[in-house]
Amino acid sequence: MKFVLASQNPKKLLELRAILSAEGVEIISREEAGVTVDPEETGETFEENAVIKARAVMEASGLPALADDSGLVVDALGGAPGVRSARYTGDHNDSDEARYLLLLENMRDVKQRSAKFVSYAAAVFPNGDVITACGECRGSIAHAPRGSGGFGYDPVFMMPDGRMMSELSPDEKNAVSHRAAALTALKKKLTEYMNDADK
Ligand code: IMP
Repeated sequence: MKFVLASQNPKKLLELRAILSAEGVEIISREEAGVTVDPEETGETFEENAVIKARAVMEASGLPALADDSGLVVDALGGAPGVRSARYTGDHNDSDEARYLLLLENMRDVKQRSAKFVSYAAAVFPNGDVITACGECRGSIAHAPRGSGGFGYDPVFMMPDGRMMSELSPDEKNAVSHRAAALTALKKKLTEYMNDADK
């Protein structure tokens, strides 16, 4: 099964490929498919944004496309930064560090620090069919950053075992991450979809 991957984030691309290649799915990059479209993430939910991104790449390439939309949901902040995780500081071009430092600042006096990473994965087909799946990873927001792996909010996201997400090896992260859970669930639905199409 061949898909064009909508993501442009190179670290995400590595994670996505590592997770899905094990499942025997062939993935080509936007560049390999000659896709340059860059849709605005105008959805109000992760699921809407994942479908917007996958649909735009499917329409530009004529091939099935795969996208994910993800972010950090902090309970004490009413779900923020949520779908705005990548532009929490107001500027998409700010660094990951600027974003997680703002988060720590906004949570300076907050005691209830539970949070989760959420990911929605979407597959959109040239015939218009859409399949989505969700994954979550629960943890809490630390008081200071630690670790150098991963990306985004990983240095301030504490796992239940006390390690930061950024202190996990790539394989360890892929075993527990929200994106891995969403993609594994999506892969299952895709297999059912392909089996139904064969009947
Ligand atoms: P997206 O590229 O629109 O899905 O935006 C996702 C944003 O959420 C990223 O820029 C990160 O700030 C954050 N995020 C998503 N997944 C992760 C993760 O695995 N670790 C850390 N931050 C993440």
